Amino acid sequence: MKILEDRIQSEGTVTIGGILKVDTFINQMIDTELMENIGEEIVTRFSNLGITKIVTLESSGIPFACEAARRLKIPAVFARKYEYVTLDDSIYQSRIFSYTRKKEMVIRVGKGLITETDKVLVVDDFLANGSAAMGLLDILAQSGADVAGVCVVIEKGFQKGREKIEGKGIRFEALVTIDSMENGKIEFRK
Ligand code: 5GP
Repeated sequence: MKILEDRIQSEGTVTIGGILKVDTFINQMIDTELMENIGEEIVTRFSNLGITKIVTLESSGIPFACEAARRLKIPAVFARKYEYVTLDDSIYQSRIFSYTRKKEMVIRVGKGLITETDKVLVVDDFLANGSAAMGLLDILAQSGADVAGVCVVIEKGFQKGREKIEGKGIRFEALVTIDSMENGKIEFRK
C-alpha cells in the first residue's frame, strides 16, 4: 500500500527496542482519511467471504476496524486490555505479552459479542512476534467462531508473527511489510 509506505518513510521513527513510532497518523494522532483508505484496502483483500464481525484490540486497531466494518455493514468488536466493572464474569480472556509495554497482560471480550455463528476477521495495527494476534485467535477459538483471516496494517517481517499465524492454517495479510529497520533505515518488502 504505497500511500502507507510513503507515510511511514516520511513520518515514522525507529526507537530503541525495535519499535516503530507512527504516533502522527496511526497510534495517537489519527489521520482519518488514511483510516478510510486502510479500511477500504482491508475490505478489498477480504471480500466475499461472509465475514460477520471484525475483531481488534484496543485502542489503535479501533479506527480502521470501524472503517472496514462500516463498509461491510457489520459490527466491529474490540478486546479490552483493562478490567472494567461493566465486564462481568461472562468473558473470554487470553494472556498476551505486550510488545510495547514489555509485560504480560490479559485481553478480554464479553461472551455475548462473538458466538459460534460468526465468521471473524482479526485486524491490528502491528504484527511483531504475534502475541496479540494469537491472543485474539485464542479468544475466537473459545467462542467457536470461524476465522476468515488476520490482517495487520504494518508487519515487521523480520519477526516471528506471520509464521505463528500461518502455522495455524490461518490466512494472513499485511498492508505493508517492513523487512528491516536497521540503523533507523526502514526497508519495505517488494
Ligand atoms: P506482537 O504481539 O505481534 O508481538 O506485537 C503486536 C502488538 O504490539 C500490536 O498490537 C502493537 O500495538 C504493538 N507493536 C508491536 N510492534 C510495534 C511497533 O514497532 N510499533 C508500535 N507502535 N507498536 C508495536
